[in-house]
Amino acid sequence: MVDPGHGGDDGGARGPKGLREKVSALEIGRAVAAKLEAAGFEVVFTRDDDTFIPLWDRSKAANAQGADLFISLHLNAARAKSARGSEVFFLSLGKGDDEEVVATENAGAGFAPGSPDSVVASILDDLAQKAFLQDSERLAVAIQGQLNRLAGIKERGVKQAPFIVLRGAAMPAVLVEVAFISNKKEEEKLKDAAFRTKVADAITLGVRRYFAETNGVVRRRWVGGLG
Ligand SMILES: [Zn+2]
Repeated sequence: MVDPGHGGDDGGARGPKGLREKVSALEIGRAVAAKLEAAGFEVVFTRDDDTFIPLWDRSKAANAQGADLFISLHLNAARAKSARGSEVFFLSLGKGDDEEVVATENAGAGFAPGSPDSVVASILDDLAQKAFLQDSERLAVAIQGQLNRLAGIKERGVKQAPFIVLRGAAMPAVLVEVAFISNKKEEEKLKDAAFRTKVADAITLGVRRYFAETNGVVRRRWVGGLG
């Protein structure tokens, strides 16, 4: 399941030259889907147009499809204008490594944090992703490694954060902050289809590595009632 972040009224982050995260995430999603399909994977999108989809419904759709992996695609924004490169996250059940990015990405939840809906949902959905954290970390590491090579960054590791979009996923799930849209140079790169193709290649190679390392075994453990 490829999940281009944001959409509709939720534009996500904005680059210094005005590139919207929702637009770039969809373009990257299409490139990733093309490369995954060329590698023999079947791809389903949470959104393939400019539609707002609540975070909650995204993992639900992945569960309903019986997806083997959930890959959410976003662009990072930081106050430090020089911040660059890709960051791959898997779910943290606690506070996580980066509160700034979590606040931005969780804004599209579709309900207010602390509302009765969100409390019930968080109890139910934690059960779903919890069983897959180890595999999610493996997937994150595999993708981060390839994206580091692409960016010429040596030692960047994966991060953990409490992203709502990952919590309900009953399969290995990662959130990829592909590049810093807040960095002028990276915003420029994101507008280039050739760069997006390289990113798609790197993510696809990471997915293939992940399956090779897990011996091609797809572990899908249903927790029930969350489809
Ligand atoms: Zn985002």
